[in-house]
Amino acid sequence: MDVSASAKPAAQPFASGMLKGRVAVMTGSTSGIGLGIAAALAAQGADVLLNGFGDPTEIDRLRSSLADAHGVRLSYSAADMAKPEEIDGMIPQAANDLGSVDILVNNAGIQHTALVREVPLERWNAILAINLTAAFCAIRAVLPRMESRGWGRVINIASTHGLVASTHKAAYVAAKHGVLGLTKVVALEMATTGVTCNAICPGWVLTPLVQKQIDDIAAREGISGDAARARLLGEKQPSLEFATPEQIGALAAFLCSDAAAHIRGAALAVDGGWTAQ
Ligand code: NAD
Repeated sequence: MDVSASAKPAAQPFASGMLKGRVAVMTGSTSGIGLGIAAALAAQGADVLLNGFGDPTEIDRLRSSLADAHGVRLSYSAADMAKPEEIDGMIPQAANDLGSVDILVNNAGIQHTALVREVPLERWNAILAINLTAAFCAIRAVLPRMESRGWGRVINIASTHGLVASTHKAAYVAAKHGVLGLTKVVALEMATTGVTCNAICPGWVLTPLVQKQIDDIAAREGISGDAARARLLGEKQPSLEFATPEQIGALAAFLCSDAAAHIRGAALAVDGGWTAQ
């Protein structure tokens, strides 16, 4: 039988400009992985609401450089992801500034390293609030809009620490495991709609969040920054290289494509083999 005549054309994951007319809300996008994802979505034509802390002049510069490079609109919200009422305000702001919310990337996150018995309750609460509760609040606010439009993409930036544990990261590991649980429930509740929800689980990516951990190792052990960096990678990441914000951004863009419409509730590791061990 000639199957070629009846076969549908292959899905093209990255038709250039595939996100033209879509609006993305990107939490924690003034730095690191969030900025890499914002750039990748803008490169595909999405208008983007940036969020996160930083120097206002530098944030303005980021906005105009992404807008100029990709011919898209960039908006900004200073909403603190530790404050549910500010998250509730960020979603209507995106719709007001840019017209809708089609894509939500929950990326803002913080870390605190200490033995579990030494974690202050205030740090535990802050990590749970920013890494987990903020994602819940933002998802709850966007789902009705996405469902009524019949299309949406929710991408939660979890971590290898959503899949496996390490010492000294009790709150972070608990929050990231929670993010994967939340991802699965949202995916199931939206399973018959055009709204998908997935998680990306990066291993080590060299960002300010990880640089601080490298600096801490160097200071604690009296070794150079290079030695501390090699130690960090050697302990966990078999590739012995950092993944990049651009690679995480490319995967997020793929999850927004039609080719990814049936990827639902997945936890996609980008970890140089960390969780294959
Ligand atoms: P980063 O420190 O470079 O960026 C964090 C971003 O979140 C910044 O834009 C910051 O301003 C913002 N942010 C922090 N607290 C906020 C708050 N209360 N409200 C609003 N924005 C806030 O960190 P990163 O390494 O790019 O991490 C981004 C995400 O990726 C986090 O969720 C982190 O857990 C996850 N992650 C990072 C790695 C890694 O190796 N870098 C690995 C796995 C997962």
